[in-house]
Amino acid sequence: MLKILVIEDDELIRETIKQLLESHSYRVIAAENGRVGVQVALSDLPDLILCDVQMPELDGYEVLRTLRQNSLAATIPFIFLTAQGAKADFRRGMELGADDYLTKPFTKLELLGAISSRVSKRQTITQPLTEALQQAEARLNYLVNDSATANVVSPEKLALEALLRRALAQGEFQVYYQPQVDITNGKIIGAEALVRWQNPDRGIISPADFIPLAEETGLIIPIGEWVLLSACAQAASWISAGFSPFRISVNLSARQLSDPKIAERIVQILEATGLEPANLELEMTESALVDNASVAGATLNQLKALGIRIAIDDFGTGYATLGYLKQFAFDTLKIDRIFVRNANEDAQNSAITTAVILLGHSLNMTVIAEGVETKAELAFLEQNKCDIMQGYLFSRPEPAPVFENLLHLGKPLFEAPRSTVSPRIIPFVSLSEREKSEKPAVPVQASANGRSAR
Ligand code: C2E
Ligand code: MG
Ligand code: MG
Repeated sequence: MLKILVIEDDELIRETIKQLLESHSYRVIAAENGRVGVQVALSDLPDLILCDVQMPELDGYEVLRTLRQNSLAATIPFIFLTAQGAKADFRRGMELGADDYLTKPFTKLELLGAISSRVSKRQTITQPLTEALQQAEARLNYLVNDSATANVVSPEKLALEALLRRALAQGEFQVYYQPQVDITNGKIIGAEALVRWQNPDRGIISPADFIPLAEETGLIIPIGEWVLLSACAQAASWISAGFSPFRISVNLSARQLSDPKIAERIVQILEATGLEPANLELEMTESALVDNASVAGATLNQLKALGIRIAIDDFGTGYATLGYLKQFAFDTLKIDRIFVRNANEDAQNSAITTAVILLGHSLNMTVIAEGVETKAELAFLEQNKCDIMQGYLFSRPEPAPVFENLLHLGKPLFEAPRSTVSPRIIPFVSLSEREKSEKPAVPVQASANGRSAR
């Protein structure tokens, strides 16, 4: 069945065309403005596009210009719909590469005739989709690193967005796990879940390269939900296998925090996976909170009331830090690795890290040091009574099976200190034996499309 995209801001006209085409066995996707139209064109790759010229924001000419620059959509037949019969407009559209032009009001026969003539021509000039996709993927090389494009809607960004959608649909995301280590004995007491994109052509793509766009386009909502579901299922499975106490930390983005349904979804995920709320910690950055202060505050209170722990991530790299510590009762404070780096010898980092640990403890928070890479940093953190550590010194983030090996080995990830430091008691809730035995076994590492990633 041929797929036709109708981009038209006038609802009556849009719906009339849709009904007419559907009654002639076309599949119709309707877009109410140019921006949505471009996104749908790139993600759904219709067989033909009917597009109004006069639209606010992104008009028909801009839609056409954008699509013609994109290897995925460049050859889709494009028919302008306009109320204007002016020759200049007609010429402008054709110069930009439109295939045809219908002046409103047009008859049913004119519309159907224009469509069938364009569709049959297309069949003789079809560019294979795989070739177009390859070109789009080749662009990833520079796109994913091009932060300059972060706030501009460009054809390249839209192509990347289409690839992200495809990645989600085809199960290309994976969750890696990085151990969190108890400073008093070197044992793993939890893990941070970190998403990775396993692109078929480019290999592993790190979150820093695609989370900002996922955030901007809203795709972070389904991606983040999938990460939560996978990580909670995995943690529940490890706990029921006897690795306890164990807590899983999952990052929540600004967009997720402002989603009014997030608390409800998290409850559903906990119920579906059998993970106890006390075994889940949600990490958020100061900037994510600043972006949505009122909604985020309400969401945080709901999540805390459920017994889920909340961590402030990358502490000290955002703004309004101290005010936010007062406003939100965080359970955990994660010191960013820029302060942990060389804290043993860099006077400024030493002062900041020491002060932040004291601050966290005096506000009754568990303190985690991120990015611990050297034994000297570890010794410094022990001396200063940090609670938990995370970093390459112990392990990089690893796929679930590799992380699980570490759990099975059960060895401390560093030699327990012989220092005079008295261990701080970490407020950690473990499951009772009864709760553990009641827990259902949970499939390990579900992937986005429900297939097992192992
Ligand atoms: P983050 O939450 O602060 O995660 C810690 C980052 O530090 C991870 O980078 C981790 O691989 C890296 N790291 C850990 N130990 C060391 C170390 O010793 N040295 C160095 N140089 N780096 C270390 P990663 O996995 O690339 O993630 C980057 C950021 O992307 C994360 O920072 C987080 O903000 C975001 N992110 C990752 N996964 C997700 C996710 O599922 N959802 C959301 N919303 N954001 C995510
Ligand atoms: Mg984090
Ligand atoms: Mg962090």
